[in-house]
Amino acid sequence: MSKIYMKNAVAELDGDEMTRVLWKVIKDKLLYPFVELKTEYYDLALKNRDEFDDEITYESAKAIRRLGIGVKCATITSNAARVEEYKLKRLTPSPNGIIRAELDGTVFRKPILASNLHGTVSCWKKPIVIGRHAYGDVYKNCEIKTDCPGKAELVFTGNDGKIIRKTIMEMDSPGIIQGIHNLDSSIGAFARSCFMFALNEKMSAWFGAKDTISKTYDGTFKDIFQTVYDREFKEKFEKLGLSYNYTLIDDAVARIMKSEGGILWICKNYDGDVMSDMLASANGSLAMMTSVLVNPEGVFEYEAAHGTVQKHYYRYLKGEKTSTNPVALIFAWSGALSKRGELDGTPDLCGFARKLEDATIKTIESGYMTGDLAGIAQGKTEVLDSWQFIDKIAERL
Ligand code: NAP
Ligand code: MG
Repeated sequence: MSKIYMKNAVAELDGDEMTRVLWKVIKDKLLYPFVELKTEYYDLALKNRDEFDDEITYESAKAIRRLGIGVKCATITSNAARVEEYKLKRLTPSPNGIIRAELDGTVFRKPILASNLHGTVSCWKKPIVIGRHAYGDVYKNCEIKTDCPGKAELVFTGNDGKIIRKTIMEMDSPGIIQGIHNLDSSIGAFARSCFMFALNEKMSAWFGAKDTISKTYDGTFKDIFQTVYDREFKEKFEKLGLSYNYTLIDDAVARIMKSEGGILWICKNYDGDVMSDMLASANGSLAMMTSVLVNPEGVFEYEAAHGTVQKHYYRYLKGEKTSTNPVALIFAWSGALSKRGELDGTPDLCGFARKLEDATIKTIESGYMTGDLAGIAQGKTEVLDSWQFIDKIAERL
């Protein structure tokens, strides 16, 4: 069999511990035999990042931007225990934080579903993805607790000297005050990332906020999203039969609970924080969730939503064949290869990515799975170790 041709490379970011072990197995068993794999390899192993003061992480972010696509293994974010364990020079910052800041991107967490795995909401048949704004609002707030009655005011001093002053409340007893902000530029970049993601995944998008109560603040979110959509995305959405709808956040929640899924749910920072945890737990397993970083220029980075699965790694080091779930890592690769095929106009590569995902899901649906899924699966289940499970997928592929 001739291997599937890859025109351009993707940036490949290797990582740590159990996910690093599985990363190699996935490449050896599921990619190399089928694809003439082209990657620009960056080794983000903790020791490597530490030695060169994160230079490799910055370089890898540049490569993702240049190539348009990245695929990343999970990496250790160091803490005091890791400094000791790996004899590090210092506490290295989170590589994901560095990459997110370098690319100015938004993270989307996308669940991976199989028909025999049952989440807690029975009507959800297709993935629901949350796009969470990661700037401002209550996460960058300013608060005051007062101990006497008084007047609370909101004051803005423009660089042009103009002052805007409004009364929040004539407070007749002690209380609390909070100031929050956001920036038009950040909201615009967030809107573009969301619409890019929705187009890429061929999903319709809903945005819920509370503009009936917060006419200026949430109203501005609503207006910027509508303007960006109308000017830059409406035509492309309609061509694919997709839609964008703004609705009130309470209405969005009520509709999501009754929907069959297949939607990008765009959330302001706080709503996204809360709702993404609800969604993750309703879906059952962190190992069945990929994470996609999208920047406003349309650069995509794919990874698993989980970490390096440290506890399994220590068991692996003792010689145990662990039953660590590789599905999110496999889907990180299939996501990156599919996007590469789409950008390069190489449909065979897209086809391969689809078949890889199919083979993975069908393997689970035929009852073969890793230990974490056994608890949420219905019907026949045979628990395999990671190597056996990947072999089963390879056989089917
Ligand atoms: P974790 O690696 O996500 O693992 C937490 C637990 O979740 C595991 O002990 C395991 O539970 C379960 N789990 C996660 N992924 C699994 C999989 N693929 N298959 C089976 N079970 C899975 O989180 P952590 O242990 O808190 O973090 C470990 C390291 O990862 C840390 O150094 C952290 O900095 C890093 N991290 C990196 C990223 C990233 O690069 N994106 C994200 C998060 C954390 P059981 O032990 O019960 O089986
Ligand atoms: Mg949260």
